[in-house]
Amino acid sequence: MMDIFEKAKPILEKLIKNGFEAYFVGGCVRDKLLNRSIGDIDIATSALPNEVMSIFPKTVPTGLQHGTVLVIENGESYEITTFRTESTYHDYRRPSEVLFVKSIEEDLKRRDFTMNAIAMTWKNEMLDPFNGVKDISDGLIQCVGEAKERFQEDALRMLRGIRFVSQLDFQMSKETFQAIKSNKQLIEKIAIERINIEIEKMFLGQSPIKAIELLIQTELINHLPDLQKHSARFNELLEMPINTMKTVEEYWALILFKCNFEEPETILRNWKMSNDRIKQILKLLNLLYENKIIWNNAKLYTIGLEDAIKYERLQSVLGHTNRKDYNEEYLSDLYAKLPIYVKSELCITGNDLLNWSQLKGGPWLKEVINQIEFQVVEERLENNRLAVKEWFLNWLQK
Ligand code: ATP
Ligand code: MG
Repeated sequence: MMDIFEKAKPILEKLIKNGFEAYFVGGCVRDKLLNRSIGDIDIATSALPNEVMSIFPKTVPTGLQHGTVLVIENGESYEITTFRTESTYHDYRRPSEVLFVKSIEEDLKRRDFTMNAIAMTWKNEMLDPFNGVKDISDGLIQCVGEAKERFQEDALRMLRGIRFVSQLDFQMSKETFQAIKSNKQLIEKIAIERINIEIEKMFLGQSPIKAIELLIQTELINHLPDLQKHSARFNELLEMPINTMKTVEEYWALILFKCNFEEPETILRNWKMSNDRIKQILKLLNLLYENKIIWNNAKLYTIGLEDAIKYERLQSVLGHTNRKDYNEEYLSDLYAKLPIYVKSELCITGNDLLNWSQLKGGPWLKEVINQIEFQVVEERLENNRLAVKEWFLNWLQK
């Protein structure tokens, strides 16, 4: 497969041919230096958005107010952003206005961390005014310029820094750490949706323990919604093998379980999670409260393989090690052998039962179908019409 940067180079060349400057910037350059898989390719250019749109045939004006145009070439999409700086900041949030600037250096200056403030030319040369390359090789996260000022401009950067600690397994510089500590309360100005995105990335990174430790040590955790009073519980998480968990749902179920919130659903709603996510988390949480589950066909059929595996991962994180037999392989084998996975796989329908019984429909019908379903799941009844008919006629006699 062609290198993702090789594929993107014609974009830079086209901009340059048209008399503009253009560079790869931000996360993609950082991740290339780290040999990590590249998420999206970001390009910075001296061309103004309308100039970018006139050069490329297929564009989408996704973020014109930030100077960003999405360019689609050869089936790939690229975010192309005009060199810019951020002028006045209000409310410790995003800038109220962006100003386009002439040079890449000025653009790099407004970026959050040195590792994210490196530009790369189409010839793979690095423009690195803040020594980001060295910080990357040292595994160090530090702000571009004065950390305190940078967090006062945009408080989300504090959480971004901590989430990068988890994702990259980096250290945070002393100055950056202190600046978070002294500006922690500013995080309250940030929309919960944006906080949530960072927290989720933090959970799924390679060193969530290190990051949660920073949340506690900087006391940022005391300014995140609903978690204020629970930093002691978070200390307990540090002693657990939490990085064995694989999903955001598992993390939240564990946190809610440890903190023992009275109204867990309210917390998840405060955090503005999707209905689907809330449902999944609450399901796991309720399973945890259900005490030691014994897995059999019926239980696995009802709960489903994925949640069973998540539940067992949570049990081992909680130190309930007497459940070793219930590993992923065991559960997968048991699941693979289930006779059916959904009710519609039953070989009979309600109509069959009505015909065979010559009775009128009613609540009894649903009841008996449920019984048949679990007889089949538990392998006490074969899922074929003859066997089910015989069982049913027998049942009618009772
Ligand atoms: P990810 O792997 O999560 O995409 P990223 O570094 O690419 O990480 P993005 O949110 O995609 O993060 O942002 C792209 C670049 O924009 C960053 O690398 C950084 O240079 C700059 N940037 C993003 N958010 C901020 C911010 N809040 N303050 C300053 N610069 C930022
Ligand atoms: Mg990115």
